[in-house]
Amino acid sequence: MVLNILKSQNIENIVIFICDSLRWDYVPSSVTKRGVLFKTVASSLYTASSFPSIISGLYPPKTGVHTWEDKLSKKFRGLFEIEGYNSSLWCETTWTNVPPDKSDIHNILGNPRGYSLDEIESPFIYIEDDKGGHCPYGYPSGEYMGGGCSEFFKEFGKKGKSKLINQYIKGIEQSVKQFYKREKVLKERGLLENTLIIFSSDHGELLGEYGGLTHHNRPPCPELVYVPTIFIHPSLNKYYSDGSVIRHVDFYPTIASILNKKVLYEQDGVDLTRHTPSVGLNFRFGGYFRSNSKIKNLMKYEASSIWDFQGGHAFHDLNRYKAFSFFFFKIFIQKHPRFNFLRENLKNNPNSKFKDCFKAIDHLSLPHIEYLRPQLSKSTAKELINNYLKESQEYREKMKIKNTIGNLIKKGNITGILKK
Ligand SMILES: [Zn+2]
Repeated sequence: MVLNILKSQNIENIVIFICDSLRWDYVPSSVTKRGVLFKTVASSLYTASSFPSIISGLYPPKTGVHTWEDKLSKKFRGLFEIEGYNSSLWCETTWTNVPPDKSDIHNILGNPRGYSLDEIESPFIYIEDDKGGHCPYGYPSGEYMGGGCSEFFKEFGKKGKSKLINQYIKGIEQSVKQFYKREKVLKERGLLENTLIIFSSDHGELLGEYGGLTHHNRPPCPELVYVPTIFIHPSLNKYYSDGSVIRHVDFYPTIASILNKKVLYEQDGVDLTRHTPSVGLNFRFGGYFRSNSKIKNLMKYEASSIWDFQGGHAFHDLNRYKAFSFFFFKIFIQKHPRFNFLRENLKNNPNSKFKDCFKAIDHLSLPHIEYLRPQLSKSTAKELINNYLKESQEYREKMKIKNTIGNLIKKGNITGILKK
């Protein structure tokens, strides 16, 4: 248990630096050599559902946060509710059209306060979402020729995959510079000795794989699910935890344990100073926004997957034919901007046009896909996912009943019912 030493270091502050959209295989060595590196299973495939999982220690089926319109229940804001600690959520480079303490992810998480690292008072838990490897790579958010990510991917579809990759690396380099700026602040404040820094990401990024898929959000594949996590503290030497994975859901119980605090509720994660997990789950249910449209709900994208160090099994819930026609429509009829790179890329590669096109749709719609070489069999993978989904449904029903009783007690209705 390499992290166990942190328990005796009188750690007072936690800094979680999320380098958005940083995939496992593109983490710069300048960061990995700084501490203990773990291959990490992201809980979901985009910011809105991954962040609540990091904060709560629960997978998305239990948090119930799947779209930008869902809210994380106050009961599950574990990392923001550690007793005696100031907390901050800071988004300086991601949502540049609003102040750093106000963003869409602030809304989902119940509008936690945001303080810069210069001003937050110790002891604290500071969480930052940095633009990282999010599109448009290497350019300010939403400012790529006025068209943001859509224009960016269209242009790089014409330029080709290798140029896209180089631009992604540039974006990551900028984010690492931002990270060092934060570290400098800690140094100037004399806080490096008593601060644990966790450098990680909320999900990965596709760079034209599987026939030209880009961005994130779907499908659950190694490029999107595996992200790096590096624990940095003067007591930790460079180390790579080869052969095992950790998960987003382990952050809250581990941090609580290092700070000698009790967790407020039962979570899906474990305390990494004592346990080594072997598999992690990932879920992506629905679109970016809630919808009342019957057609949209009928065609709702749902994917669950399970991953060990060597690979994983992904399952799509939508019927194969429905899913195939759905994505064919999105890509070629609706010409959805999400697939700008893919369409431009197909023009560049006329010889493999049909092969690439089917490859992309297959990865978005096949009922089961095995990625790399997982140790788990397909049947065990399916069973573990189904067990978790069943457990989470019961968990949410229990929470609903608890809330209803709590509200009735608050309003005085329960005593009335009991008297009758
Ligand atoms: Zn993100």
